Amino acid sequence: MSYKEIAKSLELLEKDWDIDSIIKDFHLGRRDDVSENSIKIRDVVFHIPFLTKIKKFILWKCYWPDCSNCCTRQGRLPLTSHDLITIGTGMKYQKTSDFIKNETVIATWQEASPGGGSTTLTSINLKRKVDETEADDGTHVKCRFLDEEGACGIHPTRPGVCYLYPFSTWLQNEKGSARVHATFQFTGDCPGFYLDDSIDSMKEILQEYSEIIYDYNTKSSGTMREGLGSISLG
Ligand code: SF4
Ligand code: SF4
Repeated sequence: MSYKEIAKSLELLEKDWDIDSIIKDFHLGRRDDVSENSIKIRDVVFHIPFLTKIKKFILWKCYWPDCSNCCTRQGRLPLTSHDLITIGTGMKYQKTSDFIKNETVIATWQEASPGGGSTTLTSINLKRKVDETEADDGTHVKCRFLDEEGACGIHPTRPGVCYLYPFSTWLQNEKGSARVHATFQFTGDCPGFYLDDSIDSMKEILQEYSEIIYDYNTKSSGTMREGLGSISLG
């Protein structure tokens, strides 16, 4: 995301939430003391930002149900092959092919690779609005499944990617084996980031997300192998 997009998102966020000025500066790339701390929890390596001048970690907690920003500001909802079956069944489709035809849209987009360069991805995405087209990909659209109380209308079969937010995750080859990595997405849409002296206050959440993230990566890799999505490094 560009500086302008993140700044705009933060501006909207600040209408409803108090955002720490240090957290805001970090989002906008205004800190010159950013390092990171890698911590392995079960099968996932988490990369947690650390601000060296003030000796603070940037951590996260979720304010749902007081907040449902991630459901009003999702850029896309890529589906795994597991999602295609469970969401399709949950929406009473007898055939997955009919679910794909009516409820999804295919999109291709580029992302910066963690090691530099860019990655081109193609996926089948759940339509966030009934008339969504590929032209809407990457734009902020309020999800049609979000109800008045801020709950997800297709929970617990919501897409795996919805369980991940605000983490982003990737696989890295380590001595011939795939290792799962994760870090935060700082899009300016989540009020849950805070500063702390140690990561202790987030350990339970990291334990919980370690399982969610590993499971998502397994399903996402399976989806690529089945030809229901693609990823290519540029
Ligand atoms: S935007 Fe952040 S705090 Fe709000 S519901 Fe999503 S993850 Fe939770
Ligand atoms: S599918 Fe559910 S969890 Fe995902 S963005 Fe829509 S309302 Fe939110």
